[in-house]
Amino acid sequence: MSTLDERRGRMVEWQLERRGIRDAAVLRAMNEVPRERFVAAELLDSAYDDAPLRIGAGQTISQPYIVARMIEALRLTPRSRVLEIGAGSGYAAAVMARIAAHVTTLERHPRLADTARDCLRSLAVANVAVHAADGTLGWPDDAPYDAIVAAAGGPRVPDAWLEQLAPHGTLVMPLGDTLTRQELVRLTRDDGGGLRRDNLGAVVFVPLVGAQGWRAGADSEGVS
Ligand code: SAH
Repeated sequence: MSTLDERRGRMVEWQLERRGIRDAAVLRAMNEVPRERFVAAELLDSAYDDAPLRIGAGQTISQPYIVARMIEALRLTPRSRVLEIGAGSGYAAAVMARIAAHVTTLERHPRLADTARDCLRSLAVANVAVHAADGTLGWPDDAPYDAIVAAAGGPRVPDAWLEQLAPHGTLVMPLGDTLTRQELVRLTRDDGGGLRRDNLGAVVFVPLVGAQGWRAGADSEGVS
């Protein structure tokens, strides 16, 4: 039996580096954040599996590779101020908090938001604010954001996110007009204020449910 530290190191090498994650800050952060603390005790043994894991309320903590890929796509710096939609377990927020200046993360399920907040506090992560809220409306109080990232897939980019994205800011989200399959999209605000779009590949995320996402109930229809 290997220790969790050893498994974390192997995850970073085999699942991230060998699949092309290059950003040293992302690799370092994922080597430091104890993913096992963000899953239920009975999933401890699976914490470093190459797969998403259940976190309750029909939601999942994303596969490590997807977390790394999304964060790498944001091109964070130590000065970045980040908005995450879909705190879930709080794991991705903890990873981003090691790279960026501040992370505001929103979660529509209050119970998940509470658990994520407690977990981050127990790990002494001081630069993340967790709010139970409909993230499709963003969080104007901390705007503008250099980076906005959604961990749930929606049919269009919510207006509020574009309003709260800083000049030269980067937005990464799964975008798609079905509940079960999306394209991971990166939008970068250019000098003129226009948006440049990069398609980063097909992905499967839980639905973004809210005023500017899918209707309530969409996330209890068997998508995981
Ligand atoms: N980043 C998370 C992954 C969470 S999965 C982690 O590291 O664990 C996506 C989360 O988005 C789910 O918890 C879901 O409840 C949440 N979600 C979906 N729609 C939302 C919305 N409109 N506002 C806030 N959270 C939302």
